Amino acid sequence: MKSRRLFIISNRLPMTIQKEGNELTVIPSAGGLITAINNYLKNSKANANEFSETFWVGMPCCNPAAWTEAAKKLPRSKYTYLPVFTSSKTYDQYYNGFSNSTIWPLFHYFPSFTEYNTENYHCYVQANAAFAKALIKYARPGDVIWIHDYHLLPLAQMLRTALPELTIGFFLHIPFPSYEIFRLLPRKWQEELLYGMLGADLVGFHTIDYTAHFLQCVRMILGLEHDMHVIEHENRLIKVDVFPISIDFDHFNNGYDHEQVVQTRTLIQEKFSHKKIIFSVDRLDYTKGVSNRLRAYELFLQRNPQFKEKVVFILVIVPSREGISKYTERKKIFDEMIGKMNSTMGNIHWQPIIYQYNSVSFEEMVGLYTACDLALITPLRDGMNLVAKEFVASRKDKKGVLVLSEMAGAARELTSALTINPNDVDEVADKILEGLEMPEDEKMQRLEAMRNRLKQYDVQAWAVDFFNQLHQIKEKQRAFQ
Ligand code: UDP
Repeated sequence: MKSRRLFIISNRLPMTIQKEGNELTVIPSAGGLITAINNYLKNSKANANEFSETFWVGMPCCNPAAWTEAAKKLPRSKYTYLPVFTSSKTYDQYYNGFSNSTIWPLFHYFPSFTEYNTENYHCYVQANAAFAKALIKYARPGDVIWIHDYHLLPLAQMLRTALPELTIGFFLHIPFPSYEIFRLLPRKWQEELLYGMLGADLVGFHTIDYTAHFLQCVRMILGLEHDMHVIEHENRLIKVDVFPISIDFDHFNNGYDHEQVVQTRTLIQEKFSHKKIIFSVDRLDYTKGVSNRLRAYELFLQRNPQFKEKVVFILVIVPSREGISKYTERKKIFDEMIGKMNSTMGNIHWQPIIYQYNSVSFEEMVGLYTACDLALITPLRDGMNLVAKEFVASRKDKKGVLVLSEMAGAARELTSALTINPNDVDEVADKILEGLEMPEDEKMQRLEAMRNRLKQYDVQAWAVDFFNQLHQIKEKQRAFQ
């Protein structure tokens, strides 16, 4: 049993390599996926001895020479890192091109932002082939592979063709759109992407809707039916199921009492004493609904003049995908809207919006999550939205209100939030008022219900659930063959 190895595959290796002058620094990432895998390997008794070695396969986003140098500086790790390289032109067309200018907008229901560029598609397939090549060199029949996200839709099939005995899981971290949206892709791409995903033994999505959309696409486009979410294809059984990703609940819950978090919270609450605080944090992305959010806040202030000078909106936007024009255009739009609102509605004593265009540390973020009266999360479309879950987990004090878009996957689980349709700015403005005036015991009840859900199904449970189902379908497959 112990000779099986685990391969985690994601677009990027979980680290950032920075070069200043001749000096290279390697900063390990602390994202949700690495937390999930770390916890799984550390905590799960049943699986602690399951794998003899764990590999992480991804792009280091530097050239091979820089990687060789960086590899010497890597902190000791439980992972063996396998870097994947492509030319910078291929990478640009794979990452900025097909991944983020075709799949990302289309799967988030932005068909008018979607580019259909054949050369980008070829580079996407080529980059996936580079992942397959890097992996095939090391993988052996019986190894377990877990592929992550929309950058790597064709990869499972490439690996299956080369090594049919692999156990392969695939998880999509973004929405899977309805058939009517997916079919906008050229037919050849539709088929290749779906067959690509079906190379896995288990295909996972955040919600039942994304799962149903995928199954419908497989039926309409490939003519493959399913029986209780199990598809039979090329003499294999493939399970398709729901695994809503979560967060490290304890980390955020305990964060409440962290010294720097307490300091940040106190500072913010003192600075804005006698004011209600609304907070949001997102990557700069057109899917996050920031323009609608600003319009709704403006409407709220116009309709409720009693809140003038009595409320601030702390808006943190984290720079993202700066190589894509649709993203840089967004930045301009936000800057203008915020500037206009602050200059026309504010005065020398009061700025209605406090805007930061930069990332924040964990301590600052939990400080903000726990200092605010209301978290305003309004994506037009979002696979899950971890910020909503992090806010809830951080509120150990059971104070604060979550206003959450029904277009976020998280709304399926956080049913005690004040849900809104982000296109309905009237409704958002009303819910801001309702949230700011909500009685304390109602806030407490709502938060308690949501916190219980997150405590039960945290990121650790998510990974365990996925691995369990992967093993189960593999067993079923053996019995079937
Ligand atoms: N986040 C971060 N740095 C920041 C602000 C936020 O790493 O400066 C994290 C945040 O804690 C959350 C993630 O970024 O875990 C955002 O995830 P979400 O699912 O909300 O949106 P995504 O950016 O994945 O579309």
